[in-house]
Amino acid sequence: MSKAHFGLIGLGVMGENLVLNAESNGFSSVVYNRTYSKTAEFLDGRGLGKQITGASDLKDFVDKLERPRRILMMIKAGPAIDAVIDQISPYLQEGDLLIDGGNSEFRDTERRVLDLESRSFGFIGMGISGGAKGALEGPSMMPGGTKSSYLAIESLLSKMAAQVEDGPCVTYVGPGGSGHFVKTVHNGIEYGIEQILAEAYDLMKRICGMDCSQIADVMAQWNKTEELSSYLVEITEICLRKKDSDKEGDIVEKILDKAGQKGTGLWTVMSALELGASVPTIYAALNARVLSSMKEQRILAESILHGPSQKNLVSDNTSIDTASIMDAVVLSSIASYAQGMELLRIASNDYNYNLDMPSIAQIWKGGCIIRSRLLKRIQDAFNLNPELSNLLLDPWFSDQVNRRISGLAEVVAAAAENGVPVPCFSSTLDYLNSYRTGRLPQNLVQAMRDCFGSHTYQRVDKEGIFHTEWLS
Ligand code: NAP
Repeated sequence: MSKAHFGLIGLGVMGENLVLNAESNGFSSVVYNRTYSKTAEFLDGRGLGKQITGASDLKDFVDKLERPRRILMMIKAGPAIDAVIDQISPYLQEGDLLIDGGNSEFRDTERRVLDLESRSFGFIGMGISGGAKGALEGPSMMPGGTKSSYLAIESLLSKMAAQVEDGPCVTYVGPGGSGHFVKTVHNGIEYGIEQILAEAYDLMKRICGMDCSQIADVMAQWNKTEELSSYLVEITEICLRKKDSDKEGDIVEKILDKAGQKGTGLWTVMSALELGASVPTIYAALNARVLSSMKEQRILAESILHGPSQKNLVSDNTSIDTASIMDAVVLSSIASYAQGMELLRIASNDYNYNLDMPSIAQIWKGGCIIRSRLLKRIQDAFNLNPELSNLLLDPWFSDQVNRRISGLAEVVAAAAENGVPVPCFSSTLDYLNSYRTGRLPQNLVQAMRDCFGSHTYQRVDKEGIFHTEWLS
């Protein structure tokens, strides 16, 4: 029997769809899952009649693959990856390649690349975005590791990836853990945009008095604009239109308002803090999820703490319109991308990833959760100026800021006046106002630090390091 081109370990939501994708692109496959019943079920179900065979143990799995072996692991990130590497490596031979397609922490990937390559195997850490549908029809893929390992799987990945007008949504991202780092930041941007759309919904509901169907109509309009046309706006409209199964009311209004945060969102913010990158919009989104999870405390606080006004929001306030809310959504989304790209640029320098920013924007244009028309503008901005320090300085983006910042400010002011939380909108406004201010009040912070701790300071009028005896 001829050997299979491609092996997959882990028949979860992603693995199952990815192997069907590979097979439909002409790569015969062999699958293995820790719990064999899942393999059997898959082979009798979605895998039936396909060029896909199964294996009940890892030795059999490895034996069924042509050499050099190309094996994708789609399993839970963390210790499970190390466990499977330990279990499979006795059966691997020189040149065989393992790909970790899960949401692994990029430092774990750095370690695994070094370890596996020291044993003459290849290892690729590859972020994959697109959910179940993307995995089946074409995801965005962010592979990192050594270039020679990438080249061994380039033809497979290029066929499996989403296709956009300028090619497949996959590229060689860079060495070591860079692929997983880029996926982490992708998810950080995703956190930001999801929270931004949730804030827009909340304002339209609580201040404008609109219902789900009216808000969905606004989302549909936004999705036709260059600035907001995106997968996340598209699915926001879908979610808002969905009725509960009994047809009684909107399902969104029946969902518990607690959002989890794990792994990638947290890692984006931690990396930004470590690297000195400013990501306030993304951080605000992460923190909004943390606060949302404190449901019992929030219910208690609602009866104890009061907002700035006791007005009936809808009847008393008409000072906010959907055009201004659109300004807030556009600028906050731009800020999420700008902060994510800035974090990538800084990480690229610090970790020697040599990331190509236009290519990263290109592979996010299709297949992934943050795909949007804005990414073409982002790609153009970095093509025009590969040294661009911040997206906001590109002429098209700075024009957006200049045209829309008063709308954003109106929205933040109305929200503040009415006590409606808009963490991403207000963080974005502060970010933009700070970024465009040539002189910030940190001169006083420096004075205080020198006063209590002799930390010294620099001056604006002469070179050098200075200290003042403040208390004498
Ligand atoms: P998942 O629930 O994260 O993982 C399920 C798979 O992992 C199952 O096949 C399970 O095997 C296997 N597994 C768990 N622990 C294992 C261990 N110690 N040894 C061997 N196998 C083990 O499934 P998923 O949602 O498809 O995600 C897979 C990876 O892709 C994760 O890292 C996830 O974060 C990432 N990801 C998910 C999505 C998404 O939309 N779901 C999108 C992008 C990336 P058993 O059947 O034996 O339990």
